[in-house]
Amino acid sequence: MLASMENRARRWLYGRDLAVWYAPEYRWPLSGLEAATGFQTRRADFALWFLLERRAAGRRNLRQPRRAEYEELARVHTPELLDSLGQAETLGRIFSVDPSDVPVDEVMNGIRLACGGTIGAAREVLSNLNRRVVGRHALNLLGGFHHARPDVAGGFCPVNDVAVALAAVRADGFAGRTLVLDLDAHPPDGLAACLAKDPSCWIGSISGSDWGTLPGVDETVLPERAGDEAYLAALDALLRRMPQGELAFVIAGGDVLAGDPLGRLGLSLSGCRERDLRVADALFRAPSVWLPAGGYSPDAWKVLAGTGLALGIRSRAPIPADYDPLMAKFSAIASTLLPEDLGGGGEEIDEVADQLGLATPRRRLLLGFYSAEGLEHALHRYGVLGELRRMGYGPFRVEIQHEGVGQSARLLDVRSGQALVETVFERREIDGAPMLYVHWVALRNPRGRFSPERPQLPGQDVPGLGLAREILELLQRMAARLGLEGIAFRPAAYHLAYRGRETLRFVDPARQGRFEALVDALEGLPLADATRAVAEGRVQLNGKRYDWETDEMVKWLEPRPDDRAAIEAEKARSHFQVTEPPSAVP
Ligand SMILES: [Zn+2]
Repeated sequence: MLASMENRARRWLYGRDLAVWYAPEYRWPLSGLEAATGFQTRRADFALWFLLERRAAGRRNLRQPRRAEYEELARVHTPELLDSLGQAETLGRIFSVDPSDVPVDEVMNGIRLACGGTIGAAREVLSNLNRRVVGRHALNLLGGFHHARPDVAGGFCPVNDVAVALAAVRADGFAGRTLVLDLDAHPPDGLAACLAKDPSCWIGSISGSDWGTLPGVDETVLPERAGDEAYLAALDALLRRMPQGELAFVIAGGDVLAGDPLGRLGLSLSGCRERDLRVADALFRAPSVWLPAGGYSPDAWKVLAGTGLALGIRSRAPIPADYDPLMAKFSAIASTLLPEDLGGGGEEIDEVADQLGLATPRRRLLLGFYSAEGLEHALHRYGVLGELRRMGYGPFRVEIQHEGVGQSARLLDVRSGQALVETVFERREIDGAPMLYVHWVALRNPRGRFSPERPQLPGQDVPGLGLAREILELLQRMAARLGLEGIAFRPAAYHLAYRGRETLRFVDPARQGRFEALVDALEGLPLADATRAVAEGRVQLNGKRYDWETDEMVKWLEPRPDDRAAIEAEKARSHFQVTEPPSAVP
């Protein structure tokens, strides 16, 4: 609370002139993107929710982008490139997902909004030059598509929003020197190509990958895992070489963070914050537009939120390690949903009437509380239906059924009759505590196709929806509302335990220890290969064939301390090894 008040005061001091550009459509509606690349589709949402909740930004700082016009994109890009963006194949290649996973209009909507955000941000920071407001910053929560060239798109960059925004302000009459500081982990190849003809542009860059010389770029290539100290020294040197400018674009890439699967620079979160603070200091006279560019690790959103903290309140305070933005957001929504909005635990239908077939499924209550209408309403309020609609589904219907082992709830796409979400659960005691016991949960994207980037996993008949985190969080909200102590689930295969590992723990500490040792041993293998290796008996534990143990994993709503000593002891005793598949080519 105190921190929030202090943040509000600091915002008044430093952040009055910060504009944060955001649209809910900044989340790419590509269900396979995260699984295939690690790209955090929820990054803009998470960063914004955090900044608002901690009062590092207020509603006054928020800006809503309009969609960039094709005319504006055409100032930079060839007609051939812009034409090709209307095809699912092109967008699928740019984002490394299967074309079946691309709702073209929705993706184009997001691209044009992001470009519109960068244009709007550049116009706004420039418009205040005359008012002699110095140090004016804008942060667009999507953009920095620095790999897009006039005629070639790729690497998650469909169009070059920076070049498009610069062309827009040039068309407005701005002729001043422009600085582009590219601090993404990858070189600014597209920017160099787009801005080659603009003599009053300076591009400076620090990268962790050597893609050869880029004409017109002051580029420093650092060795792999350079770390904070070497990076910040290189940054200081670059900032000393940077000329004065009247407008700056800062590409504050999130893939410089240690553990990023695509970036190799190995910065810590505090190193990223220091980067942003030093750049903001160096640019204190020049109006600047900040963009997030890449970021493929689970913590990438913290780099972006950190940029907001640096610009808005000049804070070095770390984001708490256990802060979960989705949990915070869903808890806030849950507190506004009344029991009667969800079915309300009213009269459940008579069991005898039900067995005689006299009751309709719409009147059944799930776990004696939720009606089908109530569940559908909740899925709407938590944003799940909105995301599904963007993928081309809807209208929807929820069905509740009694099953042999409990009750099922299904979310159906009415037009195709296909189930999108299927769950089977019951109340059950674990360790003496009443829990929401999940027998089965499946997220199904029947329009999706399996592909090399997205191979079929055990138990899947169609690809997933990319909404597992939301559904897991919803199950926890359900458990809380029903007065239960947590959720429990028995993962039938390795990938299910792996996907849930950030939230769920095996009840038995020894089992958790073996699982952690297995995760370490399989690190570096794609998840589908790792899952198959375990399922096909190609993993050995201490020299003997290892068969997957389907034990219970739990998430306690009131966190319970881990028996870390027992976990570590078993982990140290467990030596896993993968043997080669019989058909492996040498
Ligand atoms: Zn990058």
